[in-house]
Amino acid sequence: MGFVVWIDLILFFVLFALFVYIFVSVNITNLHKVYLAFHFTMMIWPFCQFAIKTTDNPTYQLFYVKAAFVDSALLSTGWVFFTILLTGQTRFLQRKILLLLSAPAIFSAACIIFSPCSWFVQPVNEGYIQRTYGPLFWIFIAVIIIQVVTSLYVISTALVRDLVPRVRKQVMLVLKGILAVSVFILLDIALNVVLDPYLPVIPGMTSLGILLSAVFFVVSINRDKVFDLATIAHQDVMDTIGHGIVVLDEYDNVVEINRFLGPHMHLHRGEQFNIRIIFPESSPAIEAFILEYHERPLERIEIEILHTVIRRYLKIQATPIMVSGLRVGRIVTFQDITELQRLIHETHQQNRVLQERNHSLIAVQKELYETNRQLQQMAITDSLTGCYNRHYLTQQLEDEVILNREKHIPFALILLDIDFFKNVNDTYGHLAGDEVICQTVEVLKQELRQTDVLARYGGEEFIIYLPDTREAEALHVAEQVKAKVEMNQITIANAAGPVSVTISMGLLTINDFSLNSNLFEDVDQALYQAKNKGRNRIVHIAR
Ligand code: GH3
Ligand code: MG
Ligand code: MG
Repeated sequence: MGFVVWIDLILFFVLFALFVYIFVSVNITNLHKVYLAFHFTMMIWPFCQFAIKTTDNPTYQLFYVKAAFVDSALLSTGWVFFTILLTGQTRFLQRKILLLLSAPAIFSAACIIFSPCSWFVQPVNEGYIQRTYGPLFWIFIAVIIIQVVTSLYVISTALVRDLVPRVRKQVMLVLKGILAVSVFILLDIALNVVLDPYLPVIPGMTSLGILLSAVFFVVSINRDKVFDLATIAHQDVMDTIGHGIVVLDEYDNVVEINRFLGPHMHLHRGEQFNIRIIFPESSPAIEAFILEYHERPLERIEIEILHTVIRRYLKIQATPIMVSGLRVGRIVTFQDITELQRLIHETHQQNRVLQERNHSLIAVQKELYETNRQLQQMAITDSLTGCYNRHYLTQQLEDEVILNREKHIPFALILLDIDFFKNVNDTYGHLAGDEVICQTVEVLKQELRQTDVLARYGGEEFIIYLPDTREAEALHVAEQVKAKVEMNQITIANAAGPVSVTISMGLLTINDFSLNSNLFEDVDQALYQAKNKGRNRIVHIAR
């Protein structure tokens, strides 16, 4: 036999290797993979049993016998793994334990493959259709029994735990499967190996056991949708989520559309999706979105619109589905943001109201401030003349005098009174009297300096505080004031000509800061003297 004979076999193995690669790399769960591998190995046993009988060549027969037993060694190990995965005993899934669990099967498979034939199986009538077994066969059987016991142990530890009913049912089915296949293997050994000399061969016993256990698994898988859990969950999420979802392939054909969109969009799987139909009308923003949708398929784009037909605000997003840097499709989602918009609108509204209230509060505050200022002004101002009142000056002086005394700053006080004022009142009337008082105050104001303080002391009496003023300067100011008042011609409504008045003044200057006399008494004393001495004069007292 040359190389040509082997070409097909080599190709078979290459294809098989590809199958294994795909099988390992595809995106299915480990449970899927273990079960499919397991099922595949289950199929090998009956196939090999059949193949043995299809040839007379003892070499091929021996190959099939060995293949069948190596397969069953793998099968029993696969069984243990499948039990572990199905019962969710992940603590067994450590590398060391897995190696330990596979070791017996690898060992017995190696024994079967490499041992001299006679140690495992011997031919009868120069063929292997009928055969007797050697000591390695019993080691192999022992390994299988160990693995069955391991599976049973895994199952029993799972059963004592508080399993959910669904898993418990599955575990019970696996238990039945193991028992079925074990019973049939034992029967096969008893009837066809141990009692072989006395009984005719009963074919297909182990295969039947394998079939029975496979049936148990298939029932379990089908009834409880073991493998479909993720898909079912995925579908559930798709259908219960409060967003519309359309999944498209790279040609914009609908791959999936969820229930949320069902009533609104008459689209079915396989149909071509047209982005334009989702908009009831057109607008510059919508046109821009559609343009971007077509021209930038690799970008995630979104738009918020008010859908005028269903009267809802929608956020529409188109996201590419990328696999290894290539776009394989697109997901278009529809999110109802009406409630969100309403809340935003409400918040804006409330904000506006608050702002308005704030403005009116500020206005009220301003008004209050102004009123307060006016009140304060009124409290310290004399209403007739507009100059300070006595209360203000007394208060002001309290602090000033202390400061002046501390810092030895000279100052002066003038108390003045209009002479014979009663006459003015009596002659021209009270209103004219008021006018005379006001005009006199105007003269006083003009003569005084910025820093001087003028206050009405009472009636037609006024007091002037001259801060930081020495005696000479104070005298000068007093003279100046007295002269100007005297010169002032006051026009009165019912008088024949202009009227003028004179004033008497008491002047108090302070130079000695150790003395602590009563300023008002002193200055009043000076004024009293000025009146007494004949009026229209200044009496100066220095302290
Ligand atoms: P003297 O030179 O001694 O000061 O004589 P006089 O007439 O000014 O005497 P006195 O100070 O006793 O009288 C002041 C008068 O001024 C008494 C009061 O009726 C009047 N008077 C007080 N306040 C006002 C006011 O606001 N307006 C008017 N028109 N008269 C007032
Ligand atoms: Mg007077
Ligand atoms: Mg008076």
